[in-house]
Amino acid sequence: MDTPKSLRDLSAADDYDPNSMPVETARSHIRSFLEPVTAVERLNIRAALGRVLAHEVISPVNVPQHDNSAMDGYAVRFDDLKQDGEATLKVIGTAFAGKPFAGNVGPGQAVRIMTGAVIPQGSDTVIQQERAKTSGAKVAVAPVTKKGTNTRNAGEDLRQGEPALKRGQPLRPAEIGLLASLGIGEISVYRKLRVAFFSTGDELVPLGSPLGAGQIYDSNRYTIYGMLTRLGCDVLDMGVIRDDPEAVQRAFDEAAQSADVLITSGGVSVGEADYVKQILDRVGEVLFWKIAMKPGRPLAYGRIGRAHFFGLPGNPVAVMVTFYQFVRDALLYLQGQVTVAPLPSLKVTCTSAIKKAPGRTEFQRGILTRATDGQWTVRATGDQGSGILSSMSQADCFIVLPTEAGNLPAGAVVEVQLLEGLI
Ligand code: AMP
Ligand code: MG
Repeated sequence: MDTPKSLRDLSAADDYDPNSMPVETARSHIRSFLEPVTAVERLNIRAALGRVLAHEVISPVNVPQHDNSAMDGYAVRFDDLKQDGEATLKVIGTAFAGKPFAGNVGPGQAVRIMTGAVIPQGSDTVIQQERAKTSGAKVAVAPVTKKGTNTRNAGEDLRQGEPALKRGQPLRPAEIGLLASLGIGEISVYRKLRVAFFSTGDELVPLGSPLGAGQIYDSNRYTIYGMLTRLGCDVLDMGVIRDDPEAVQRAFDEAAQSADVLITSGGVSVGEADYVKQILDRVGEVLFWKIAMKPGRPLAYGRIGRAHFFGLPGNPVAVMVTFYQFVRDALLYLQGQVTVAPLPSLKVTCTSAIKKAPGRTEFQRGILTRATDGQWTVRATGDQGSGILSSMSQADCFIVLPTEAGNLPAGAVVEVQLLEGLI
C-alpha cells in the first residue's frame, strides 16, 4: 500500500474497512501517518539516558587502544614455550594496568603482567598465574597451544573509523557506557515528545472528592501518565473534560496548540463517538475504527492541527491494551527510533483452560511461572473483563490469542508478550 497523503485518502481505499480492522492493519495505517521529530538537543551522556541518538557515532579511537592482558600472569614469547612440559624463563619486570613495561621481552624472558596491562613488546601470549611457579627471578610456565592466548586485541571491541552506534538508537545503560568508552561525554539526541492527555466522562470524579451515585474515580489518567512517563515523554495532564461539546472542543484546540500527541480515553464507543466525531471533523481529521481485538474494540486515530490524536476506549484495561498495541509503538517511532522493537514475546504452555470465541485477537492477562523443570508456563489471571484493572496489576504478560483461535484446553502452547518494565 502506498502511503496515503491524508486520512481521507485512506478511508476512500478499496480495502479499508473501519468496522473490522485487524490489529496489524491498524498499526500499519497509523505508522503511515507518523513523522518523527527532527529537533535535537545536545546533552551530557548521563542526561541522555532513555533518549534517542540523533546521529551516527563513528568510533574516534580503537577500544581497547592496545593489545592487553585478559589475565593476571606472565607475558611470554609463544616460541619459548615447551609443548611437552614447563619452560623456565627469566622475569625481567612487571606490567601494570595503566603502567606499561617499557622494555623488550627477549628469548628466554618473561614479564609479570596484570589484567588490562599493555602486552610488552616482544611478548605475544599470557600464561595465567595459576599455571606458573616462581622461584626467585625465574618462573616455570606450563604451555598453551595457541599464540595470543589470554590477550585482548586492540580494536576488538570497537574499531577506529567504524560505526559504533546508529542514528535512532535508544540510549540504554549499555550505550551510555559505550559512549564513555570512546571518550565521548556529550551527544545529540532528539527532543522529547510532548504528549497531552485527558479523560472524558460525566461519571468521573477526581481523587480527593467523595463518590456520588454512579460515579467512579478517574483511573485512566494515572495509567496513561505512568505509561507515558516510562516511555520518556513530557506529559501534559489536562484533567477530566465533561461530556459537553464546548468543553471537549476547547480541550482539543488547546492540545493541538501545545502538544505533539494527544491521547484521550472514553467517548469513542458507539453512542458517544458521533459527537466526538462532529467536534473533531471541525478541528482535524479523524478515523474511527472497530478493531478486531478484545479488549479495546473502539479506537480513533487522527490529526488535530499538527498533533497526532489517539482516542482510546474508556474501559481501564482496554486503555492499557490499546496503548501497548498501538500508542507505544507510535510514540517510539515519533521519538526518532528508527527500528522499533515489538514487545518481546515467546511461546509457553498455558496451564489454565482458555475461553475464547473466534473472530478477534484477544489480549488476556497472564501470570508467568517457572516450573521445577526450568520451563516457563503461563496461566490467565481470572476474570478477563475490560474493566478489571486489577488483572493488569496481577499480570506480567499478555496472552495473545490469534483471531481464529477458539477455546483452548489446559496445556495448549500460547504466545505471550512480556510486560516486565512496562506496566
Ligand atoms: P466510554 O468509552 O466513555 O463509554 O467508557 C467505557 C467505560 O469506561 C465506562 O464504564 C466508563 O465509566 C469507563 N471509563 C471511562 N473513562 C474512564 C476513566 N478515565 N477512568 C476509569 N474508567 C473510565
Ligand atoms: Mg464516556
